Amino acid sequence: MRESDDSGELAALPDDLAGVRTALIEWYEADHREHPWRETDDPYAILVSEIMSQQTQLARVVDAWEEFLDRWPTVDSLADAARGDVVSFWSSHSLGYNNRAKYLHEAAGQIVDDYDGEFPDTPAELEELMGVGPYTANAVASFAFNNGDAVVDTNVKRVLYRAFGIPDDDDAFETVASDLMPDGESRVWNNAIMELGGVACGKTPRCDVAGCPWREWCHAYETGDFTAPDVPSQPSFEGSRRQFRGRVIETLGKYDELELSELGPRIRVDYGGDTGREWLRELVADLADDGLVAIDAAGDEVCVSLRE
Ligand code: SF4
Repeated sequence: MRESDDSGELAALPDDLAGVRTALIEWYEADHREHPWRETDDPYAILVSEIMSQQTQLARVVDAWEEFLDRWPTVDSLADAARGDVVSFWSSHSLGYNNRAKYLHEAAGQIVDDYDGEFPDTPAELEELMGVGPYTANAVASFAFNNGDAVVDTNVKRVLYRAFGIPDDDDAFETVASDLMPDGESRVWNNAIMELGGVACGKTPRCDVAGCPWREWCHAYETGDFTAPDVPSQPSFEGSRRQFRGRVIETLGKYDELELSELGPRIRVDYGGDTGREWLRELVADLADDGLVAIDAAGDEVCVSLRE
């Protein structure tokens, strides 16, 4: 579990929840990876994509998904198919775990027989379908019906842990994830937060490169500690070092020059100790070697400025 801060309080969601939500949705809507199954709200097509994506690389899934839907375009057509044909489609497309094909075929039969061919639209009902676990049920409810709960997968946990200092505890993640999700917006929200975890806040974070919309609130970004439940030690030192280099440049852009003791606290709140003066001296020396900053040292006084 993450340690509490000096006041004994665990970090919590920022007061400006509306700002946090809007920033993420706008970031996602401005640009995101295209997955063909995110362009549809057909629950059948989404269910097929979710079942295929379990433990299979997405790049391999795209072609198989399109061919599958060409061959069995509706849930009725899949229910009518011979089980053996579905299984052999699965294995000939190297989708692995052929049981998933059997279950998918069986789920299609349940929808036709038990629901008159109409997909149920709640996570709880969807979970009654053969081979459909809580994650898949919630994904279909969210992406097809905009009626899901907040997704909490490994990526989302990593983001919440880093951004808001949520402790590594499933109940805490569930509570925070659902407090964070705007009501009735599970489709865009779950897509957006999963995109954040996949594109910006991966094991090696790409906060600045990916333009993470949560930098101004992010606990990890502020402290430079990018560990997470699935990233037990500081990831890619170079990754965070690059960020601090960027921050030095950005900060110096606002001043003619700064002494190290003035620059340090402006680029990290925990300036001091192992990440104090010596650390900063090295960082700016690297930047000077790269021709980006000028260092003016007189005795103990070390002033840094952007190179003209
Ligand atoms: S600022 Fe960085 S660490 Fe924080 S949520 Fe964004 S990508 Fe993750």
